[in-house]
Amino acid sequence: MEFKLTFKEYNEALKQNKLLGLKCSCGRVSSSPRMVCPACGSTDLQVVELKGKGKIMTFTSIFVVPEGREPECPYVIALVDLDEGAAIMGNLSSVDPNKVSTDLIGKKVKMSGNAVFAGDKYSAGEIARPLFSLES
Ligand SMILES: [Zn+2]
Repeated sequence: MEFKLTFKEYNEALKQNKLLGLKCSCGRVSSSPRMVCPACGSTDLQVVELKGKGKIMTFTSIFVVPEGREPECPYVIALVDLDEGAAIMGNLSSVDPNKVSTDLIGKKVKMSGNAVFAGDKYSAGEIARPLFSLES
């Protein structure tokens, strides 16, 4: 078996503000590199570009960060239900982490860019992640 979408390809695309996912022959779309469909277990997956639009399922404000992320603190991480049906986590860049409330849940967001973490002693190098902002 081979990965149709490797983490490296996913990461490089994200750095170009392209959010890649996988679409299974059963119709299920997933948002991150994986070998099999999470719904049916098939390996018949195609790489697709996701629009990066969706709704906030939940979120959290981060005030105590892992080593190396001190300059980013504080920040908000949101779990986004993408329009294509996949869920993905990303930073919510358009809100104040000190002032967010559960009113955010269900709000529409779109991917507005990416942030690259340089990596640390636990990772294998740079890791890009999506930045979302609220749709007005
Ligand atoms: Zn499937």
